Amino acid sequence: MASIFSMIIAGDIPSYKVAEDENYYAFLDINPLAKGHTLVVPKREEDYIFDLSDEELSGMVKFAKRVAEKQKSVFGCKKVAMVVLGLEVPHAHIHLIPMNSEADVDFRKAKLQLTKEEFIEIAESIKVE
Ligand code: 5GP
Repeated sequence: MASIFSMIIAGDIPSYKVAEDENYYAFLDINPLAKGHTLVVPKREEDYIFDLSDEELSGMVKFAKRVAEKQKSVFGCKKVAMVVLGLEVPHAHIHLIPMNSEADVDFRKAKLQLTKEEFIEIAESIKVE
């Protein structure tokens, strides 16, 4: 069965898209730690990120870099954290989290509750063409 992220990429489940190319897709995390928390995924489904080929992995990081640059300029945050967990969804992904302090990337803290309108506005503001 396709992963939830493959269903998102296929458009079978809605998402707040931030960027897309031939091989990768970026969209807002539905349970964000910070405004603009984005997930970057390869379109080819693979569970463990280090099972991607060298080419796929480096392409994914380059794609993530373009998103992170946009996040940093829009949010004016200190840095954008790049985090990989993959404990919940078995489809390799990078979390990109606008960050000003370590507390911003504490996955145990309560997630932000955003309205649909807020998600749309945020996704539009960091869209990478
Ligand atoms: P991880 O696998 O890295 O531990 O966590 C998976 C992440 O994917 C979580 O931060 C969770 O909020 C996010 N997530 C899970 N299901 C969905 C979904 O259907 N849509 C979106 N946008 N994010 C999801």
